Amino acid sequence: MNIILLGPPGAGKGTQSARLVEQYGMHQLSTGDMLRAAVKAKTPVGLEAKAVMERGELVSDEIVSALIDAELGAMAPATGAIFDGYPRTEPQARALDAILERHGRKLDHVIELEVDEDALVDRITGRFTCANCGAGYHDRYHLPKVDGVCDRCGGTEFKRRPDDNEETVRMRMQEYRAKTAPILPVYDARGIVSRVDGMASIEDVTKALDAIVS
Ligand code: AMP
Repeated sequence: MNIILLGPPGAGKGTQSARLVEQYGMHQLSTGDMLRAAVKAKTPVGLEAKAVMERGELVSDEIVSALIDAELGAMAPATGAIFDGYPRTEPQARALDAILERHGRKLDHVIELEVDEDALVDRITGRFTCANCGAGYHDRYHLPKVDGVCDRCGGTEFKRRPDDNEETVRMRMQEYRAKTAPILPVYDARGIVSRVDGMASIEDVTKALDAIVS
């Protein structure tokens, strides 16, 4: 099974991918995570991507498609793939078709998480994660049970993404509307798009995804 999770920043793609990974043993391919790792490791890709990401703009199609190609190539053929944050442009969607074909895979579902943009700014600007295990929290909606201590692993260090500020979030949404939303009709024409209410609770979104993929 190979699926794309589509939706603007903060729609819940990362959260839901993690749940699919846990439930179905699929593998999450997040270009955002790969790029953040490259920035941290100061690789040539990271050095090129850092400023672009801080502005909320898109990194080049060639870079992200090469990252996806390499990661897919390293996966066992039987393991399902969840594409999270990729493709984000029409050239990336075309590249993904070619990459999937090369790796003997086919696209089963494109799932769009539909959300309200103003609510997203509120969601994104309050989010933070445990620096140790990556568990997600929120200043207003989901604080750790014990102040400053991760519920999952007991870690005491937390981090925030540098691009989770209002100005950058608005730019990331603009990029989504201008460059990513236009790829949906291509998948619609193939009859593989499902739409899910991304404003529902995390549990309810997971249930809706389950119904699509199982
Ligand atoms: P994300 O974690 O998916 O929100 O991505 C964070 C940032 O990484 C984006 O704002 C872009 O600058 C960059 N990025 C991630 N995925 C892509 C992609 N598929 N194409 C271009 N840029 C990307």
